[in-house]
Amino acid sequence: MALPKLEELSRSVAEGPSMATGAVPTRDWMDIPVVFKPGNYAYPAKKDKVEYLNSQKGLSFPNARVWSPEEDDWKLPENWKDIILNGLKERLDKFRSLKIFMDCCVRCGACADKCHFFLGTGDPKNMPVLRAELLRSVYRNDFTWAGKLLGKMAGGREMTVGVLKEWFMYAYQCTECRRCSVFCPYGIDTAEITMMLRELLHLVGVGINWILEPVSNSNRTGNHMGLQPHTFKDNVEFLVDDVERLTGIRPNVTFNRKGAEILFVTPSADVFAEPGLYTAMGYLILFEALGLDYTWSTYASEGGNFGLFTSNEAMKKLNAKMYAEAERLKVRFLVGGECGHMWRVLHQYMDTMNGPADFLEVPRSPITGTVFNHAASTKMVHITEFTADLIRNGKLKLDKSRNSHIKATWHDSCNTARAMGLLDEPRYVLDHVVDWVEMPENTIREQTFCCGSGTGLNTDEIMELRMRAGLPRANAVKHVHDKHGVNMLACVCAIDRATLTSLMNYWNPDVRVCGLSELVGNAIVLDGETREELDDGLRTL
Ligand code: SF4
Ligand code: SF4
Repeated sequence: MALPKLEELSRSVAEGPSMATGAVPTRDWMDIPVVFKPGNYAYPAKKDKVEYLNSQKGLSFPNARVWSPEEDDWKLPENWKDIILNGLKERLDKFRSLKIFMDCCVRCGACADKCHFFLGTGDPKNMPVLRAELLRSVYRNDFTWAGKLLGKMAGGREMTVGVLKEWFMYAYQCTECRRCSVFCPYGIDTAEITMMLRELLHLVGVGINWILEPVSNSNRTGNHMGLQPHTFKDNVEFLVDDVERLTGIRPNVTFNRKGAEILFVTPSADVFAEPGLYTAMGYLILFEALGLDYTWSTYASEGGNFGLFTSNEAMKKLNAKMYAEAERLKVRFLVGGECGHMWRVLHQYMDTMNGPADFLEVPRSPITGTVFNHAASTKMVHITEFTADLIRNGKLKLDKSRNSHIKATWHDSCNTARAMGLLDEPRYVLDHVVDWVEMPENTIREQTFCCGSGTGLNTDEIMELRMRAGLPRANAVKHVHDKHGVNMLACVCAIDRATLTSLMNYWNPDVRVCGLSELVGNAIVLDGETREELDDGLRTL
C-alpha cells in the first residue's frame, strides 16, 4: 500500500477525527469489530516456516497452513476456544505477574496517552489500558467470580473469533516498548500482556512472518538472515578490508577460536546491512586499538533474539546458543554488541531461563582491570559499558574533530534504556567523541519514545502504521534538527538503526542514523595508521 505524502499524514494525525484529537467514540469498544485491509496488518507466517519451527525440539507452533487475515475463515482448529482458554489458564498459573496485571488495573488512565501507537493512530484500542483490557475482559469472564456471575456488567466478555481477531490486530500494534509502564502507578507492564497475547495466538497458528522467519533462521543457521557460517565470516572479512583501506591498519579477527578470552556476539544486521556495517567497523577498530584477545563465532552469529517477540520457549532456546558457544570455546566472558532486545532478554529473562552462567567468569576488563559486577550472573558486558570504562581510564586515543561533520542527538533505545538502565554510559561516550545535544526531556532516558517498528514490526506492508507510530520520536528529532542543526541520530540497537533510517527518510530526510560504535570508530587514532582526512568518517568509501 502506498505511503501517503508527509503533509497528508501529518494532517491526518493532527486533525483527523480520533480519540487523540478529542473525538468521542459513539459506540462501546466491545461493539466495534476489527476490519483487516491491506496496510493495517503484517503478513501471516509462511506455512513452511511454521512447520519447520513446530518440528524443532522444545518448540511448539501448531496449525501451520495458508491463511489470510482478510478472509472470514482463519482456518482455526476446531477446538480453538478450548486451546486459548486452557493456554490462558496455564499462563495465569505459571506467571504471577500476569495474574497481578489482570487484577490490579484501576483504570486511572495515566498510561492512556503514553503509547506512540495511540498518539500516531488515535485508535482507542491502542491506549495501553484498553490493549490490556482486550485480554482482561476474557480473563474476567472465565476466571473471576464477578465475571462468571455478571458477565459484561463486570467487564467480562466471551472469547469469540471476533475477539481473537482483535487480539491479532492489537498485539501487533504494540512494540512491547514498556513506555506505558513507566507512568503506571501500579507498574503494570503492558508489554508482558502483549507477549502473552502473542503466545496465545501462536497456540492456534496465528503469527506473522516477519517474526517467525527470523526465529526459524536463527534456529537453523544461528542468525536472523539465515547466513551460512562461511557467509558470515566473509562479511566480517569484507569489513576488515574496508577498515584497512581507510586506515592502513588491518584488524586481526578470528572465528570460533577456542581459548580466546572473550566471545563477541552482535546482531547479524551489523555485518549485513547499512548503517550497521559502519558500527561493526567501529568494533573492529576498537578491538584492534586494544589488541583484545577475542573471537567471533559463526554459530552464535546473532545477538538479537526474535524469540522475545514470539514465546518464552523460543526466547529461551535462542538465548541458550550464545552460552553453549561460550562454554564450547572456553572463553572467560562475553562482550555483546549494539542490540536492544538481546539485552532485554539478557537482563530480564536470561537468569530464570538459562542462568546463572556459572561456568564463565565475572567479566573483568583485560585493559583496565574493572570488574563488571552487575554482570556477575549473565557474564556479558555491553560494548557501551566496556567502551565507557576504557575512556574513563584513558585507554583510548580519541580525536573528536574526526566527527566534526556530525551534530548528533541520542536516541535511548527502549530495551537498553528501560530494560537495562543503560542511560549514562552512552552519554559519557558521546561527550568524548562527538558534538551532540539532547532531545526534549520527556522523550529521552526512561521516557524515551520507541522507533515505532520494534518487536518484529519492521516490515514494509505496514509502513503507514510504522510512520504514524514513529511520529513522536521523529517529532523530537525534528525539534533538535531545526533548533541545533542535528544531522545524525545515534543509538545502540540494530532494529532501531534499520527502523529509524526509514523513519528519518520520511519525516526528517536531513538526519541520518548511526550506531554509537561508528562514532567511536571514527574518532579512534590507531598506532601506525595512515588515515587520510575522511570527510564522512567510516562512510567515506
Ligand atoms: S496507568 Fe496502570 S492502573 Fe492506570 S489505567 Fe494504565 S494500566 Fe491501569
Ligand atoms: S508497551 Fe509500548 S507499544 Fe505497547 S502499549 Fe505500552 S507504550 Fe504502547
